[in-house]
Amino acid sequence: MRIVSDFDGVWTEPAREARAVHATVVRELGLVLEEAHERVEARLEEYAAAVMARPHAYGWLIDHRLASFVDEDFFCLPAAMGQYIENGETESARQARDAVLRRWESLTVFMDHCFHSTCAAFREQVDHDLTHGAERVLEWLLARGATITWATNAPAEKIIGWFAHHGHQVADARETEPGSSPLRVYGRAGKQWFGPTDRSLDFNGRTVPVDRPQYRAIVERESPDVVIGDVLSLDLAVPLAMALEGHPAAPRETVLVARRHTPRWVLDAVGPEPGRIDHVVSHLTSLPRIVLGLTKERAALASTAGC
Ligand SMILES: [Mg+2]
Repeated sequence: MRIVSDFDGVWTEPAREARAVHATVVRELGLVLEEAHERVEARLEEYAAAVMARPHAYGWLIDHRLASFVDEDFFCLPAAMGQYIENGETESARQARDAVLRRWESLTVFMDHCFHSTCAAFREQVDHDLTHGAERVLEWLLARGATITWATNAPAEKIIGWFAHHGHQVADARETEPGSSPLRVYGRAGKQWFGPTDRSLDFNGRTVPVDRPQYRAIVERESPDVVIGDVLSLDLAVPLAMALEGHPAAPRETVLVARRHTPRWVLDAVGPEPGRIDHVVSHLTSLPRIVLGLTKERAALASTAGC
């Protein structure tokens, strides 16, 4: 059983890290605006409400297209707020934009600085923050001979370090062959980078670009049985597109980890029809149930073939 998995939001509880990023944005914006913490908090509340009111238009903007939408992706709220400030739709946003641009090259550079500096500091302070039950799931999968390959936009060292804390060795997937060790990781997987075409899939009115060559190359190389992730656009859209194409490396099953904020358009993308997500779970600890079901299905198929 070969599993390709996202990391943050599947194996971790990202709320703590996201709160730390928010605190950095408040501090840094306070510096450029020369404003008190409370005033900056009030501004950010206004910007967050504005982007969440039009989530189809805001998110992780790459080359004028959204790599993920703000309502499905916990981590892209700062980027979406940066986009809102840059658009300067209100007097408050224009003030913030002018203040940031006096000291920073662009809103993207400013928000990237807030995001990356916090995440780097977070990794130094927190050496493991796996979600409840993650270790048990890992042991269960390993005992059944499964291989797990993480494809994550986080740096590989984060995953390697956190699992080392729990006594598990994770190999760098780019330096090792698929199947050579049970746990491997592609860091900085580039799930957000687009190729030259505008190929996309429609999920209940949201257009999700699926020409993402870096992530596609990983799925092609790993040829997984299962792909699991918590953000449809980043983690599951490419494997679903490959399945629709009848690509031989497409996964047999896709699994969505639904979080508290997961929007209706994503939940409605789960179903038995081609191009839909196969399973939805509310937590990683439900993954063994799906793997068990697949294993039984496979055994039944093998015995039928034997007859
Ligand atoms: Mg994730």
